[in-house]
Formats: sequence, structure tokens, C-alpha cells
Amino acid sequence: MRYILDNLRRIKRMLLSGGFAETVYLFLKEVEKEGGAFRHPDNKYLVNLSFDFELGYGTTFWYGNTEKALVYGRAARRNFVPIARYLKESNTPANIQVVGRLLEPSEDRELFHLTDEDLELLKSPNFEIGLHGYSHKHFTEISREEAEYEMKTAVKNFENSFFRQPEFMAFPKNRVAHRDIVRKYGIKCWRADNQHPSDESEIPLGHWFAPGVLGRSDLKRLLDTIKIKRAGYFLHLWGHFTEMDVDTFRTLVETIKNAGWQLTTVKNFRNY
Ligand SMILES: [Zn+2]
Repeated sequence: MRYILDNLRRIKRMLLSGGFAETVYLFLKEVEKEGGAFRHPDNKYLVNLSFDFELGYGTTFWYGNTEKALVYGRAARRNFVPIARYLKESNTPANIQVVGRLLEPSEDRELFHLTDEDLELLKSPNFEIGLHGYSHKHFTEISREEAEYEMKTAVKNFENSFFRQPEFMAFPKNRVAHRDIVRKYGIKCWRADNQHPSDESEIPLGHWFAPGVLGRSDLKRLLDTIKIKRAGYFLHLWGHFTEMDVDTFRTLVETIKNAGWQLTTVKNFRNY
């Protein structure tokens, strides 16, 4: 029965989306298009791995389903240290965006607060650490005053922890808004909510980096197909520490390296 279902699924994928998972198929259609302000590199194939880091704090579940937020937070905590250690030890560049609230001392310290060990890991030079808002509020749903407060508080906490200004940001849930306020607080670049952003400060949304939608074989085929379609490409792959353990993650990073793509941070690519 399992065999029949697997085969049916494979046939359906072949017919509907050229053998790819649907999100990958739709993404490849966007890869073919040109346009927008973003310039892909010439003759270079770069992958930027990007993690949004909130430990369950302020997620959709936070307000209605605390238990689920805690489960989410625990999963992120379980995977963060081994994944960050692997990236550090293999000197693999990556971006990690932190929710500003996690940088404050808190009573529920264990779950919604970064420990000294976490901070030490994040300070490793292969990472570009950025912001993911202060309380994970969706910027499309908050007033200008609230956006000011989010940025001011998040930047202050960031500077206290990392002794420098944050320059990259991923908006919570990729809901991009209040760009002028974000810029005012020193953010130079952020993840767009689409593949062909017209704002020069934005990098294309790229693809969700979760094994459920982008497993090893789809990732390999995606990388090979882009190489055929484009003479140089910057591929942003974003996700969370909840979506995979270090073994799965390592396999996917090896797939990227074996396909002849280089890894980079946004800062190194954009030179800001
Ligand atoms: Zn988030």
C-alpha cells in the first residue's frame, strides 16, 4: 500500500510540477524571470543560509497556545547549539537573526533568553548576526509608534550584547513594512517578501529551508537547475532551528557544497 501511494505521489509530482515539490517548482519559475533592483552575482553561485531565531517567543502560538510555543521553543533550543557549533567548526558562513527580547535577562530564562554560551557561539566570525524585531510582532500590523519602539529596543539590546550595530534584518513572518524606520535605526539590508524586490536594500525572499519542503534530492536538483538557467545566482535559504536536527542540516550543507555552490553571509556578499 505504502509503495502504491509513493508511486502515485511521484506520478502526480511529475505531471503537476516537473518532478519537484510544488514550492520548488514555483520558485524555479521565478528564477527564470528578471527584474527588480537586486543584482545577482556574475558567474558565481552563492547560497546564504539564514535562520530566524525566536525560541517560540512571540510566535503565532504565543498568545493563544502557550503549550505549543513552548514545544517550538524547546525544539529550537535543542537544535541551535549543535547546528551553530557545526557551522562554527566547519567555518561555514551563515546569517542568524535574533528577536531582541531574547537578549534581555528574563525570569523564564531557560526558554526565552539566550545564555552566555549561546552568545559566545553567535559571536563566532563565520556568522552575521542580525535582528528579527524586538517582540516578533508583524510589522504590517503595528503602528509607526510601535515600529519605533520595536526597533529602538531591539537595537539597544543588540548593541549591549554584541557591541556593534545590527545591519541585517528579517521581518517577523517576512511581513515587510515601516522600511523608513528600520533604515533610520541603521539596518542596511533585509529579506524581501518577494523574489524581485524593487527596493535596493532588499534581498530576494529565496526559498524556505526546511527538509519537509526542500529535502536533499529536491535541493540538489534545484541547485543544478539554477546553474543551467542563470549565469550566476544568489540563493537565500531561510528557516528556523525548529525544522531540522544537526544531522539533517549537515547533509543539506554537504549537498550545497558538493553541487559546487559557495556559502556566504549577506554582509560579505553586499559589502556594506
Ligand atoms: Zn520568526
